[in-house]
Amino acid sequence: MDCLCDLDKKDIENKLEAIKKLVDKPRFICVKCARAANKEDLVCKPVSIKPIDDSP
Ligand SMILES: [Zn+2]
Repeated sequence: MDCLCDLDKKDIENKLEAIKKLVDKPRFICVKCARAANKEDLVCKPVSIKPIDDSP
């Protein structure tokens, strides 16, 4: 799996199940493409989203 930002529509359809697992708990968002992903190397310009936890 390459950078999610490089996927075109056809790739997304073909790999949807794999992609779902890469974005189910997103920690990073791409400031260029607005895609979110669990790992920073999955998007081209990652910026950390606030850590997901249950505390207030
Ligand atoms: Zn990107």
